[in-house]
Amino acid sequence: MIEKTDAIVLKSMRYRDTSKIVTFYTRRYGKIKAIAKGARDSKSKFGAALEPMTLSSLVIYKKEQRELQLVSQCDIVKPYKRIHSEMERMAVALSIVELINQLTHDEEENLALFLLLVKTLDCLEKSERMFESHFFAFEIRLALLFGFALHLENCISCGRKLELNGAKTAYILDLSKGGIYCPTCSATAGKLGAQGHSQYRLRAEAAQSLKLLHHLDMDNIQNLEYTTEAGNELNETLRLYLQYHIEGLKPLKAAKVFQSLHV
Ligand SMILES: [Zn+2]
Repeated sequence: MIEKTDAIVLKSMRYRDTSKIVTFYTRRYGKIKAIAKGARDSKSKFGAALEPMTLSSLVIYKKEQRELQLVSQCDIVKPYKRIHSEMERMAVALSIVELINQLTHDEEENLALFLLLVKTLDCLEKSERMFESHFFAFEIRLALLFGFALHLENCISCGRKLELNGAKTAYILDLSKGGIYCPTCSATAGKLGAQGHSQYRLRAEAAQSLKLLHHLDMDNIQNLEYTTEAGNELNETLRLYLQYHIEGLKPLKAAKVFQSLHV
């Protein structure tokens, strides 16, 4: 059957002399792998529509129970030019598509995930600064979609509202519960030696930024300010949080690049 759907290209691999095998995350079918015949030919009708991190309108010949579908047509909807031309922006976008590729199975539709992916790339393309924030905001929303949302409003032990301020304060984040202890409960948890493998110390600035990344509208993420130290803490915390909840998650190749660039 001929099917049409919007799709973000996650990955593109050379295949034989002139073709490509492309992994798409589609609006209608979730992840799909398809072969694009003649895609590496200089006169290919596909142009740049099969480049990773591009939003394209995809037409495929789709057969049930076939692992590899056939691309009939693919046209660019959004080329994300700044993402493709600037190293730092690209490293963030590559981390995002790599993460989706790792987490999803073929043909499991998830419209919310597709929309989150497109929205994140839209914001990253428009952003003037703090590019890595878009990756953090994406990870936080991804956790929500996959059923292990972070809860940052109230202490996970006594229920008191969390203010998350104080330059010298450190909070304890419990990876298994997805929440933070207030200063009083953090002290108790620390004293009890409960710093088990699921508990992680977070300084006030990183805790506050985590909460803002969670609540801010995606369009305003670039306005968030935090120090490099807090950025490093956020990166590490979210990496550990995803690793804790997603079995078999492999380290992201592209994340190493953006860490080294300090975007
Ligand atoms: Zn408490």
